[in-house]
Amino acid sequence: MKTVCLSSGSKGNSIFIEGGGAKVLIDDGLTLSNIESRLKTIFEDADNIDAILLTHEHCDHLSGVKFFLKKHKKTKIFIPAFVKEMSIDSISCLPSNQVEWFSSSEFKVKDLEVSCFILPHDSNFCVGYSMNFEGKKVSVATDLGFMSKDTLRSLSGSDILFLESNHDENLLRQNPKYPAKTKKRILSDTGHLSNLACGLAIVSLAPTGLKQVVLSHLSEENNTPNLAYSTIKKILLEHGIEEGKHLCIDVAFQNEVGTIFNI
Ligand SMILES: [Zn+2]
Ligand SMILES: [Zn+2]
Repeated sequence: MKTVCLSSGSKGNSIFIEGGGAKVLIDDGLTLSNIESRLKTIFEDADNIDAILLTHEHCDHLSGVKFFLKKHKKTKIFIPAFVKEMSIDSISCLPSNQVEWFSSSEFKVKDLEVSCFILPHDSNFCVGYSMNFEGKKVSVATDLGFMSKDTLRSLSGSDILFLESNHDENLLRQNPKYPAKTKKRILSDTGHLSNLACGLAIVSLAPTGLKQVVLSHLSEENNTPNLAYSTIKKILLEHGIEEGKHLCIDVAFQNEVGTIFNI
């Protein structure tokens, strides 16, 4: 399997995953020209994307989908079937012949096995995905207010995990630009995952075989790549886990394509 984060953060998200003969994107919150050019930098043609798997309807995950599907007619968008009845405008407007409503939490795109799990977030719905092929597992969990036991179970056994490390709680609490209501929303159980919560989740997942974590959906206001990395490295060390030895930590960026991982 091959995977790379094309963009991550509140201004647009997309992760590329290839396996089992399928090329998929998790979300597309980028402009058409931006996602096409980012795919080109990893030598991929947007025309060959089989599927976009949607996590939720917030525009940093969905805004590019309509334009992508209009140009790339072979691409399908996969959305949980229960979302159909919600009549969300930004989803209802997608071309119906390119929408795959999946009703089972496990399905396939070509030979790539996909499993989907619910995440706690303040959207109409929010899910994460794990992709399995030939014993390897890549998982994506961003936009979640807290790490539940169920989510940990879904992420267990991942080789590579894109996990939200949104904010440093102190930076967020002290940020004068953020109204109290916004802070409360982000810190709530349906907001975003903090560096601390992310670190503790990695501690729980490390014994299940986790080898590579990509810290994702970092806030540009309430976090920095260095702060997220050093906070999590410290939490891991406190639990006897050495970054670079037991597992590796990488950071996903908003404005540049991330590291390409092959497993
Ligand atoms: Zn988001
Ligand atoms: Zn969101």
